[in-house]
Amino acid sequence: MPSASVLIPPHLLPADGRFGSGPSKVRAAQMDALAALGPSVMGTSHRQPPVRDLVARVRRGVAELLGAPEGHEVVLGNGGSTSFWDAATFSLVRTLASHAAHGEFSAKFAAATSAAPFLADSHVTRAEPGTLATVAYDADADVYAWAHNETSTGVVSPVVRPAGATPDQLTLVDATSIAGAAVVDLREADAYYFAPQKVFGSDGGLWLAVLSPAAIERVARIDASDRWIPESLSVQQAVTNSRLDQTLNTPAVATLALLAEQLDWFADHGGLAWAAGRSRASSDHVYAWAQARDWASPFVADPAHRSPVVATIDLDPAIDHTAVIAALRENGVLDVFPYRKLGRNQLRMGLFPAVDPADVEALTACVDYVVERLA
Ligand SMILES: *Cc1c(COP(=O)(O)O)cnc(C)c1O
Repeated sequence: MPSASVLIPPHLLPADGRFGSGPSKVRAAQMDALAALGPSVMGTSHRQPPVRDLVARVRRGVAELLGAPEGHEVVLGNGGSTSFWDAATFSLVRTLASHAAHGEFSAKFAAATSAAPFLADSHVTRAEPGTLATVAYDADADVYAWAHNETSTGVVSPVVRPAGATPDQLTLVDATSIAGAAVVDLREADAYYFAPQKVFGSDGGLWLAVLSPAAIERVARIDASDRWIPESLSVQQAVTNSRLDQTLNTPAVATLALLAEQLDWFADHGGLAWAAGRSRASSDHVYAWAQARDWASPFVADPAHRSPVVATIDLDPAIDHTAVIAALRENGVLDVFPYRKLGRNQLRMGLFPAVDPADVEALTACVDYVVERLA
């Protein structure tokens, strides 16, 4: 092992050094539960009761945690949120999507619908990274799309239908990095979708979406139309299979097991309000810490737009973020790099509910220690 350029005293270190914005910390108890569950589900048929029970447990757990209204269904499929963008492009957008884009992830979904040859050119309301773009009423649109949490910049959005939106205009909300860590009213979203490797500290490879009756009806209508839809990107296939606690093709069973365990952990501690409170406590600490340093400041200027789950902290140009990040990594404090394409002198911290707020305090103490030594 190379000798660390800065050796952080052990008493300052967090008990767990994983602060990534996704994949994120998987708790030891989840791994233990997976090991215990392993022989009954791993390496067994996903068409038989043990794995189907696991899918059912996940679907029920998500609906309960997020307070899914009557008639909304938890649907899942393979390929993560990126695949859901393509699936939604095929199965949920009728003619034209209106997007808000203010970072990499919200822009990627806008690019997906814009590139589809069977759709009209998407409308995209853009804003500079670090600020918030929202969608306004758009008479041409049959879908509005935005990200509840823009993970690349640490900007949080309200989850509310645009004023004047008609019932035929669906709202598709990318909650990949915040579903389960912020209180939400799902009557405002026709598709509230996410992946398990962020808030739920599971592994990647799946997408999950809470779909409203209007979204389910749209999916069925488009499925019955003459649009060609690849089977693996058909939301209708996902709806049909999910109703049977199945997936179209083989799912990542370990991902499901880790997710089910995390849903139980949230439920046992008080559900969504508790999980959101953990992230809020951690992020309140980080933003206050940054504001109290003359060499650090929250990247998101408007406090109301600062994410409770992904904190982005700009550093003074005299402090090289890559040196800070490298020194932290040598001490086992991991993955606080900024989003790769943002190109800022920044630290980005994943503050999901699984991350102990005491470890977040240790993290900021470690940054203080490293910055002092590097200066
Ligand atoms: C991570 C992330 C995605 C991509 O998720 P994958 O499961 O890796 O495809 C999409 N949107 C947001 C907001 C994300 O944070």
